[in-house]
Amino acid sequence: MAALTRLLKPSSSSSITFLFRRSLSSTTTAVVSDIESQHNQRPNFSDPKGSRNFQWVFLGCPGVGKGTYASRLSTLLGVPHIATGDLVREELSSSGPLSRQLAEIVNQGKLVSDEIIFNLLSKRLEAGESKGESGFILDGFPRTIRQAEILDEVTEIDLVVNLKLREDVLVEKCLGRRICSQCGKGFNVASINAKEENGRPAMSMAPLLPPSHCSTKLITRADDTEEVVKERLRVYQEKSQPVEDFYREQGKIMEFDLPGGIPESWPKLLEALNLEDYEVKRSAVA
Ligand code: AMP
Repeated sequence: MAALTRLLKPSSSSSITFLFRRSLSSTTTAVVSDIESQHNQRPNFSDPKGSRNFQWVFLGCPGVGKGTYASRLSTLLGVPHIATGDLVREELSSSGPLSRQLAEIVNQGKLVSDEIIFNLLSKRLEAGESKGESGFILDGFPRTIRQAEILDEVTEIDLVVNLKLREDVLVEKCLGRRICSQCGKGFNVASINAKEENGRPAMSMAPLLPPSHCSTKLITRADDTEEVVKERLRVYQEKSQPVEDFYREQGKIMEFDLPGGIPESWPKLLEALNLEDYEVKRSAVA
């Protein structure tokens, strides 16, 4: 608590940066530098030895699938997937002093303070560093311009993947989301069939059903109610959309419109990332 109180003091921004810098300083800079989605260029992975570390960020509205795709890429690339939402939920499920304060904020669909997020993220990065982790795929961070600026101060982000999906589908996806309370895996019970509307193409997504050993242990996130999801989407437009512009100006963003569920989207995402061969080579040596 003392450390947190120190962080919350107005003069704390340098200590946040210091903590953050310490956590991030040992991660090396990756080589993806020519992401120019405006010109439809695909990332160029020129280091086949795999000696590079990936420092990627996943952006996108709540429910778009950042966790799903970031986690798959994390397995494929061998870099940790760090979701600040997971860190917040871990803290929530502990009986720590922060827990009640966080529950109130999260269950209303609001953002947790930058200070708390930096503190949780710093701890996670330090724990990873001590286990020899390097590189990262950040999911759900940065979510405010201040978070993006501080991240920018302390390390180089190589690529920002901005996942996009129509809003009615986002809401349906959030409402169908379930988590196995035992193994932590995510599923989705929604069967989505959104019609073509106002120039937006029709879209279907099959449910992602749990195996039988998980099906009796499913829970729903407290912030996945219709009212809270709509508030989270509003907060995203207000606080997080400027983060998209921040990276767009840096030429680091790769826009990706999800064409449907995982079976349609995953191969297309790999293709957009120029990683389709990577997957083939990895499965060949596995
Ligand atoms: P998520 O799982 O990413 O939807 O995050 C769940 C909740 O955790 C959000 O609605 C916020 O209340 C909080 N949260 C997660 N990441 C951040 C962040 N980078 N900044 C502020 N709040 C966050």
